[in-house]
Amino acid sequence: MLQGKCAVITGSTSGIGLGMALVLARQGANIVLNGFGDHEGPRAEVLAAGQAHGIRVGYHGADMSKPAEIEAMMAYAQSEFGGCDILVNNAGIQHVAPVESFPVERWDAIIAINLSSAFHTTRLALPGMKSKGWGRIINVASVHGLVASAQKSAYVAAKHGLVGFTKSVALEIATSGVTANAICPGWVLTPLVQKQVDARAVADGVDGEEAKRRLLAEKQPSLQFTTPEQLGELAAFLCSGAASNVQGQAWSLDGGWTAQ
Ligand code: NAD
Repeated sequence: MLQGKCAVITGSTSGIGLGMALVLARQGANIVLNGFGDHEGPRAEVLAAGQAHGIRVGYHGADMSKPAEIEAMMAYAQSEFGGCDILVNNAGIQHVAPVESFPVERWDAIIAINLSSAFHTTRLALPGMKSKGWGRIINVASVHGLVASAQKSAYVAAKHGLVGFTKSVALEIATSGVTANAICPGWVLTPLVQKQVDARAVADGVDGEEAKRRLLAEKQPSLQFTTPEQLGELAAFLCSGAASNVQGQAWSLDGGWTAQ
């Protein structure tokens, strides 16, 4: 379905971004990976997923808090892959603390990585998408783009901002063949959430399995984690022709979290 397209997926060396890369690779898209830590392992996995289509997989290590590095990544997608057809703004970090003692540096980093990076990638990707008359922008927001939780002020502010940004961009591009939508996952068991599971286990004096059960029971009525694979399949749907008129939505995959 996506043969010949190039997907740039920020924060795709791990978790949800890697899950999305694997699904889009299986659909035949070339992939530009981004993120910290080991990238050779993820690159090999994604290449294998798209092997039947002979896809190419690149990597750019841009730090999403640095606009100049984001510009270099988008230039790399242009020179190596003929541009970015599918942009998945996924890189994100979390910090949990009450607002009055929230570290100022963590606030700035969360806003830069979880929100401002999507502005930079989008402004750089749109001219190419518009000239081709086709493009998909998929912003990985969160249930926290729709509702709040205590002690996550920066994250909630950034994710609500990302949902608003998505709507505004969607209106600007509505007749261009490009769509912009947000995906709002509930709990997904990735390294980002494992840290919160570990903190809960210590705080409650319980083991990891019980900490997971308690986190889910508090917020996610299905009592199941959403998986990176499910989020990848939703991204693939948003890239399909069936979704060409889905515009400016915030689509939850949260086991009922925001239905409460
Ligand atoms: P993760 O920690 O597994 O992955 C985060 C990725 O972002 C990694 O590849 C990491 O290297 C990269 N990254 C971090 N800082 C970066 C930076 N400055 N520049 C470039 N890359 C950077 O986390 P995840 O759970 O897969 O989260 C992915 C996205 O999904 C985030 O935006 C997160 O807010 C969102 N999300 C996660 C959950 C969840 O329950 N895990 C729920 C809703 C939304």
